[in-house]
Amino acid sequence: MILLIEHLVVAVVFLVLLGVYLRNGAWETLRTVLVAIKQIPWVAESLESVLKSEATNFIKTTKLASGTGEKPAKIWIPKKGMTREEILAKMKSLKEKETNHMEGRIFAYTYTLADDHFQLQKEVFEMFTEQTGLSPEHDELVKLFQKAFLHENALNPMVYPSLRQMETEIVSMTCSMMNGNPATCGFLTSGGTESILMAVKVYRDRAQKLYPWIKKPEIVCPVTQHPAIAKAAHYFGLTVRYLPVKDDMTADVSAMEQALNSNTVLVACSAPQFCHGVLDPVEEISNMAAKHGLPCHVDACFGGFMLPWVEKLGYPVPKWDFRCPGVTSISADIHKYGYTVKGASVIAYRSDDLRKFQIFSSGSWPGGLYGSPSMAGTRPGGNIAAAWAAINSLGEEGYMSRARQLMDITDQLKAAVTEIEGLKIIGNPVMTCFAIGSSDPDVDILAVADVMEKKGWTMERQQNPSCVHCTILPHHQISCDDLAGDLKESVTIVKGNKQLSKQGTAGMYGMMATIPDTAIVEDFIKEFFSEIYKLQ
Ligand SMILES: *Cc1c(COP(=O)(O)O)cnc(C)c1O
Repeated sequence: MILLIEHLVVAVVFLVLLGVYLRNGAWETLRTVLVAIKQIPWVAESLESVLKSEATNFIKTTKLASGTGEKPAKIWIPKKGMTREEILAKMKSLKEKETNHMEGRIFAYTYTLADDHFQLQKEVFEMFTEQTGLSPEHDELVKLFQKAFLHENALNPMVYPSLRQMETEIVSMTCSMMNGNPATCGFLTSGGTESILMAVKVYRDRAQKLYPWIKKPEIVCPVTQHPAIAKAAHYFGLTVRYLPVKDDMTADVSAMEQALNSNTVLVACSAPQFCHGVLDPVEEISNMAAKHGLPCHVDACFGGFMLPWVEKLGYPVPKWDFRCPGVTSISADIHKYGYTVKGASVIAYRSDDLRKFQIFSSGSWPGGLYGSPSMAGTRPGGNIAAAWAAINSLGEEGYMSRARQLMDITDQLKAAVTEIEGLKIIGNPVMTCFAIGSSDPDVDILAVADVMEKKGWTMERQQNPSCVHCTILPHHQISCDDLAGDLKESVTIVKGNKQLSKQGTAGMYGMMATIPDTAIVEDFIKEFFSEIYKLQ
C-alpha cells in the first residue's frame, strides 16, 4: 500500500506542480529557482497549500474516498455500545472495499497461506487473548476482536514466563536457521522496521561508547536498501550514505568502500533487497567492513525465512548469513515468509555484547525498576504466541515444501516473462520474487502496468529504472498462466499505441524522471499522509 501510494503521489506532484512549465520547456531554470526560493517562508507556505490541495484532490480520485462528500471534523465514542450485529455489519462493509489477495492479482503486502495454517494462528491468538472477569457480553465483544487485539503483555518477562519462553525459542530457532552459533542471540520485534531501528540504535550506541569523538555517525549502504534504514537514521540522528548499485542492481562493494570515512559506524546490505529480489554480495561487503573494523548489518527481513530453504532445495544462493564472519547482525521477518500474522520479526546479533546495546533501562522511576528491549513498551503476547505456533507447526518440512512450490511458480513466471519480446527480468533474483523491466525502447513497462491494471491486476510500480515488482505466494498458482497471457497482450497493446506511454502513470513517471529534486516529492508525500489519515 505504502509503495503504491508513494508511487502515485510522486507522480501526481510533478504533474500538477511542474507540468505546465515543462511544456514551456523552462524546466531547468524553474527547478533551480524553485529549490532556491523554497527557502523563503511565503513561498514555502504557498507551496505547502498547493501540495495540500493536490493531496486532497488526489485522495478524492482513489477508492479511499468516502463518496459521501462532506466529512465530519471529528466523531465521538458511541454513547451506547454497538451491538454485535452492528459491529459485524460495519466491519463487513469496510472489508468489502478491499482487494481480495487470494485471487492472486496483487504482488506485495500479504504473505498468506491458503490452507489451515492460519486457522491454527487464529486459535493460538484466541488462547492468548482470553480475558476473564468481565461480563459475558463484554467477553463476547472482546472475542470479536481477538484477531486484532491482545491482552497479554510481554513487557514484563517475570509475569508471563510462557511468552518469554516462546520468544527465546523463536529467536534461537531463527538464529540456527541463519547458521548462528550458540552465542548468536536476539530479540523479537513488531516487524522489519523495528528490527532495523534497533540495529541502527545498537551501532550508534556502540560507536558512542567506543569512539566518543564521532559526532555525526554515518551508515554506508546501497541505494536499494529498504527505507527503514533511512527512517532509523532519521529517528536516531545518523546520516545514510547511499551508493549507486551495479547494472544487475546488486551493491557495488568498491563504491561502498570508497564512501567509508571517519564518521562511518555501520555498513548495511540486503539478502535479498526487496525491489528486484537480488542478493547483495554479502560476504564481500562484510569482509570489507570487517577489514575497516566496522560492523555489518544484513537486512534479511524479506529473505530470512525463505533463502535457507531455497538453498537447501539446491538453488545457487551465495552466502549471506552468520557463515560470513563479518556479518554482525541480521533482521528476519517472521510475518513475511515465516507465515505468521503481522507483527513479528527477529533481530539477531552475533553475540550478546552487541545485543546489550539494544536494551533500555531506567533505575530512577518511582514506578519501579524499568527495562525494555525494544521500541515498544507494552508488547502484544498474541503475536509472540502466533509466531511460535507458525514456526513449530510448519516445521522445516512445511517451509521446504512451500519454498519448493513458490520457486516452481517463480521459475515458471520468470521463463514466461523472458519469452515475451520486449520484457526482461531485472538482474538475477535469487528467490520467490522478481522485477519485470523492458528490453525494448518501444515498450514502456509502466504503460504495460497501466494496461494490466485495466485488466484487473494490481501492479507494483518501481522507479530508477522503471519496472514492476512481483512477490510470489501460493495463491499465484491459480493466476500465473493468466499473468503471462495478459502481460503478453499488454505489451502488444503498448507497442501498437505510442500515446499510452504519455498517459496514465507512465506519462507522469516519464515527466518525473527529468526532475531530480526529491525534496518536493517528499513534501508531497507528507501532505498526502497528513490528509489521508483524517476522517474520510
Ligand atoms: C518488509 C521489509 C522491511 C520492513 O519490514 P516491515 O515489516 O514492513 O516493517 C525491511 N527490509 C526489507 C528487505 C523488507 O522486505
